Amino acid sequence: MLQQDLVNRQELVQEQRKKTLLVVDDEPIICQLCARALTNFEVIQANDGRQALQQLYRHEVDIILSDVMMPNMSGLDLLRTVKQQQPDLAIILMTGYTDKEVILQALKAGADDFISKPINLLQLRTTVDKVLDKVLMRKELASLKQIDKLKTDFLGLVSHKLKTPATAISLFVQHIAAGIDDPEAESFKKTLSMIQAETMHLEHLIQDLLYFSNVILQEDQLKLQPIELGKIARQVATSLELVASNKNIDLQVNLDLPFPPKPMELDRERISFAIRALLDNAIKFTPEGGSVSLEGSLSDNLVRLQIRDTGCGIPPEELAKIFNKFYQVDKENTGQIRGFGLGLFYARDFVRKLGGKLQIDSQPSLGTIATIEFPLAE
Ligand code: ADP
Repeated sequence: MLQQDLVNRQELVQEQRKKTLLVVDDEPIICQLCARALTNFEVIQANDGRQALQQLYRHEVDIILSDVMMPNMSGLDLLRTVKQQQPDLAIILMTGYTDKEVILQALKAGADDFISKPINLLQLRTTVDKVLDKVLMRKELASLKQIDKLKTDFLGLVSHKLKTPATAISLFVQHIAAGIDDPEAESFKKTLSMIQAETMHLEHLIQDLLYFSNVILQEDQLKLQPIELGKIARQVATSLELVASNKNIDLQVNLDLPFPPKPMELDRERISFAIRALLDNAIKFTPEGGSVSLEGSLSDNLVRLQIRDTGCGIPPEELAKIFNKFYQVDKENTGQIRGFGLGLFYARDFVRKLGGKLQIDSQPSLGTIATIEFPLAE
């Protein structure tokens, strides 16, 4: 799964980086002790809470080991500030077991564990390992919860979208079954054509669903290979010719192959997905009789693909939101705009991962221009 893959890759990068431990204590000996006991860590130091916060701006810290009593900013205040700003950052406090009041306050503020002074090296190692394991589990749990929420949202959306055409078809069929209309009457033919339209709407939704599950949910790693961008764009446009002609939309492709002159290192599935999502939108949001064009150009060391349409356009206040997951411009709140509001989110995500940019410019009632740009390889 794409999201899981991203989490895995981030974890891999994290694993390869030596973990950093920030010791907050004015005694240099504590820092030396930690460096000696935790050889697989980079150990950095701060003399008090305030200095610790400065170190956090400069370094990516994985765990903090802090004294409690310090001038300027105490360990407890540091703990509260850090847990507000970076709740996932682990903090171990060095305190005597007799400081019950301090321990209670620290627990309330989210301290991850305690070590007593003078420091015992074995205790230090095991506590640090234990706390880091706990943090990792916390992160995994949060990521699982996020995936679970995404799935629930998506399922809710899918059932809502499928329910309306299915209910309409069922009502039309009941009407026919009641035998109210004469099969030769105009109203009967109208009912049939409405059933046909709703069935097509259902078919499109199911096609979109299959498409998203194939491309997004199952593919994981980028598969870079030399490809001819222009050829791929042409193939995508050809696959949508029928959809355009059914709406009496003039679909023009202006690409002189080979485009660009040399193949580019891209992921075929993902770049096809992005072009298809943009072209599909252009056709979907252009009324009958309008036009859509796909054009390739080279300038300023950039390879550019532009998809223009003469459709309904996008209001300026909506432009920033259309890249959000599940977002659709739906002025009348019908909930019945075809699609799942995922096309642009993934199109931009894929183009970015391949080193490019995707931009949408639009003017309500005049049309929309979608631009994909890649730097031209030297
Ligand atoms: P969907 O697959 O549901 O169309 P997208 O993420 O591709 O989702 O697009 C989000 C929304 O942006 C669309 O529902 C539509 O409201 C708006 N939009 C995208 N492209 C166009 C376009 N060419 N013309 C008008 N509106 C568009």
